[in-house]
Amino acid sequence: MDFLRLSDVDVQGRRVFIRADLNVPRDDEGRISDDTRIRASVPGIRDALARGGAVMVTSHLGRPAEGRLTDADTLAPIASRLGELMGREVMLIRDWVNGGAWHSALTSGDLVLLENCRVNPGEKADSVELAKQMANLCDVYCNDAFATTHRAEATTHAMARYAAVACAGPLLTAELDALDKALAAPKRPLVAIVGGAKVSTKLTLLRTLAANVDALIVGGGIANTFILAAGGRIGQSLAEPELVPEARAILDAFPGKLPVPVDVVCAKRFAADATPSIKPVDAVADDDLILDLGPQTVALLLPLIANAGTIVWNGPVGVFEFPGFGDGTRALAEAIAASAAFSIAGGGDTLAAIAKFGVTDRIGYISTGGGAFLEFLEGRTLPAIEVLEERGREARERSRG
Ligand code: ADP
Ligand code: MG
Repeated sequence: MDFLRLSDVDVQGRRVFIRADLNVPRDDEGRISDDTRIRASVPGIRDALARGGAVMVTSHLGRPAEGRLTDADTLAPIASRLGELMGREVMLIRDWVNGGAWHSALTSGDLVLLENCRVNPGEKADSVELAKQMANLCDVYCNDAFATTHRAEATTHAMARYAAVACAGPLLTAELDALDKALAAPKRPLVAIVGGAKVSTKLTLLRTLAANVDALIVGGGIANTFILAAGGRIGQSLAEPELVPEARAILDAFPGKLPVPVDVVCAKRFAADATPSIKPVDAVADDDLILDLGPQTVALLLPLIANAGTIVWNGPVGVFEFPGFGDGTRALAEAIAASAAFSIAGGGDTLAAIAKFGVTDRIGYISTGGGAFLEFLEGRTLPAIEVLEERGREARERSRG
């Protein structure tokens, strides 16, 4: 890999801007339900501080509306958890793009957290103007957010082009090394499990994924789209009807590789106390919501997991947060833990499910990435990594010439 690493950059007395991924899952009261991503970001921050950097950290959290910071979008809970992990108070800065008194005062050994970067107008659109403003805040830009490397946004992409120095943090580097090692020549059969709620962003990846793996297990909203494509019924379930032709094309192109659920667990309301009812897919009613895989489907999937050589997993196969709808995800998690296969799991909610079912220690590698992890698997170039590599090659040429 051609990029500069944070550990190779002299940060003494310099302002270091770290784009971390602190986008952690939260419960209904807004409490952090899994802090893996915050913990994973600590080593990069500590390293920059220990070597005399003046450190600013930012992240996105959720999907806020641009230009408006609401209580649901603030990084305040992240600042306090990061403070606990760092053993020091972490000041949270709002409206930080143009600097200010906080920025003039920033010196070696200081650490501040900059509010939700996705609230800044232009962030999602990868605005050059915004990127230049942010690049002016720092001497060194460091991307340590593996989980967002598949997105070209101002803090993950354009900013890397305009900062004086651009480098990769230790988490990003470690993730790429581990994934490369595991997936360069995976032990077969290679089984992928793709579930969750972000249907459109994931469904489009499935065709390439299907070509690369030996079996593709689907759950969540993705499974519902495939049930539709196979001629089944899904009632009011989360799905993407306009992608049914694509789903059907995948089923036709890879016969037998993608088991479509035969039974499901339904509810009449999307609520924690909804009554679960198990049905074959052809008995799903118009007012049903499919919220988990059924036991017969799970029984068909377990041998695939038991016999796998490598398992990659992103996305819970059901609404595991609700007590009546977590059995499918629990069964798969336990089967992965019991399997001799090398397993890699990634995704904010996937990690929360793994933690909930107590199998974290028995997963081969825990990645902080969800979508990025899938795109890596698919063999795509991740834009945030590509720009770091460009900058790395430039830096090397300059030092040579
Ligand atoms: P990750 O964060 O691991 O990448 P996603 O964010 O895509 O995963 O999806 C996780 C969410 O998907 C979970 O909160 C879960 O409740 C939800 N989910 C799973 N199955 C369904 C379903 N059938 N209908 C609605 N939501 C679902
Ligand atoms: Mg998620």
